[in-house]
Amino acid sequence: MTTSPAPERLEFKTELKQLLDLIIHSLYTKKEIFLRELISNAADAIDKVKFESLTNEAVLEGNSDWQIQLIPDEVAGTLTVRDSGIGMSRGQIVENLGTIAKSGTKAFMESLKEANAANQPELIGQFGVGFYASFMVADRVTVVSRAAGEPSDGVQWESDGQGEYTVLAVEKADRGTDVVLHLRDDARDFLKPWRLREVVKAYSDFIDHPIAMDVEREQDGKKTVEEEILNSRQAIWLRSKNDIKEEEYQQFYQQVSRDHEKPVRTIHYAAEGTQEFGALMYLPSRRPFEWSMGPAKPSGLDLYVRRVLIQHHCEELSPPWMRFVRGVVDSSDLPLNVSRETLQHNPLLAKIKSSLVSRVLKTLDEMKSAAYEEYASFYREFGPLIKEGVGTDHANRDRLVDLLLFESTATKAGEFTTLAKYLETMPEGQDEVYYLIGDSREQLEHSPYLEGFRARNQEVLLLTETIDEYLVSSLYDYKGKRLKAVDKGELAKDESSEVRLKEAGERLKPVLEALRKAMESEVKEVRLTSRLKESAAVLVADDFGMTAHMERLMQRMGRGAEVRDQKRVLELNPDHPVVAALHGIVEKDGQDPRIESFGRLLLDQATVAEGSKIKDPAGFARRVNELMTRGL
Ligand code: ADP
Repeated sequence: MTTSPAPERLEFKTELKQLLDLIIHSLYTKKEIFLRELISNAADAIDKVKFESLTNEAVLEGNSDWQIQLIPDEVAGTLTVRDSGIGMSRGQIVENLGTIAKSGTKAFMESLKEANAANQPELIGQFGVGFYASFMVADRVTVVSRAAGEPSDGVQWESDGQGEYTVLAVEKADRGTDVVLHLRDDARDFLKPWRLREVVKAYSDFIDHPIAMDVEREQDGKKTVEEEILNSRQAIWLRSKNDIKEEEYQQFYQQVSRDHEKPVRTIHYAAEGTQEFGALMYLPSRRPFEWSMGPAKPSGLDLYVRRVLIQHHCEELSPPWMRFVRGVVDSSDLPLNVSRETLQHNPLLAKIKSSLVSRVLKTLDEMKSAAYEEYASFYREFGPLIKEGVGTDHANRDRLVDLLLFESTATKAGEFTTLAKYLETMPEGQDEVYYLIGDSREQLEHSPYLEGFRARNQEVLLLTETIDEYLVSSLYDYKGKRLKAVDKGELAKDESSEVRLKEAGERLKPVLEALRKAMESEVKEVRLTSRLKESAAVLVADDFGMTAHMERLMQRMGRGAEVRDQKRVLELNPDHPVVAALHGIVEKDGQDPRIESFGRLLLDQATVAEGSKIKDPAGFARRVNELMTRGL
């Protein structure tokens, strides 16, 4: 290898600099995961060139040795991870190793900075900045690479992780990448064959390519060097279930997910008959950390064809709502040279996908009935995805609906009911499923909209997730019972309340009219309601209008302009003393200025009660002061 004389000096992007600083100074447990990350990168690079060679044999350059080599050098104090993969050009190396492409790096680092994250180098792998884990064990890293198909253009990248790196052109005979770690003194155990063996076994045993190391042996005073393959390479998903130990499932899960907690369920099956494939899927027990970092990968399933990796995160295997499922699927029917583009409308894949979805649904359903507590804690993590599925996966809608759990006025905080249970326990004569959406259970529990329902002993589902507005609009009804927001539209009236409202309506007609006139510009209508017991007034949307919660959501999404002119209905409690007092004022003098002033106070009260902001806070304060002065 000859090198050209002038290395170019470049700076890391700011965020990467900070990340490296954290890696070097804060992460100190489980340093060995650096090796898993480098091996995983090497395996990916081999998969890529292998895949490319299916359609373009030239990239092989006659070299189809798919080994990953570990080369410890006691004298130099270096450990090299060598692969014959796709390699990197100069541009790619700068792009891949000098910047972090992902958004949300800042957020990632914020959480790393929190004391407890310092002990979790796992997060690095989950976040996909694995290469930099090298700096946990090395004070200098040299990467020498040559991209497939570019015979003379090698490139060398080198850095001490302190803010700068150099790049220079070199010659490299073989395609692929060498990552050379100049190990720190406290990491010299990674030069020892036993240590490397141990780490590979623990973290990379199922990697499909052989991980090889030359080991010196002494026999009868003669030294010989033997190549040893450190990983067992068994495609665990193709083995029979009965032969696989729990720990092996667990290890493989860690390999595919980087999650060190146990999955809640492992689904392993082989389909035979019209389509042959094996699937090994895991349901994680908690949301992957990386999800808080930006959009999740669209699928957690990798597609293999007869043990050759075709695509990581294969969207054709999993509907978007199922993206929490991690694992692999191996088909023996698909052609090996299937291109990523033709995966899209492949009928075979569509069939596999529907079988996978069905298995996952069945597993969740069994969990819900046989291990409810486990299901409930799974649901606390992944419920929003089930809800997303209800709206997007029409073929499986009903099965997904039955997996939904809800908090309600009949459950304790944090506990759930189901739609089926709701129907079972609802009072005779009720034919709607009531719900209320808001920001938190606490806010909802104090909501005036619930007063009447409480008094009538009617359960109301309490929804507090962002996706809930979308859920109820796509759910619409359950077993013929319509879902009905308690802060929207008129309520179904039973006979007695109808008679009472009608009677009150006639009696209070003058007040209603006076208020309507006084507040024309603010509200769409003023009417009486049976919704309230203690409160005097509430605001409701009409059936097709937007609730206050929805308005707030839109405002948060920066779409406030679309909701600004939405008027709502002001509903009054006919039995409230304030309404009676207003009635008295109107009877005496229909022009009394207090009508408008009190009407606005009622409106402002209702606005505060629903959790929104008052339009004219200064006017509100003035009116309250007037009232207080009079009272005193
Ligand atoms: P990730 O592997 O999660 O993308 P890394 O920081 O480990 O993150 O690597 C960044 C990128 O550098 C990889 O996506 C890949 O494109 C490239 N890369 C890393 N190691 C290799 C390698 N051995 N051969 C080819 N490309 C590599």
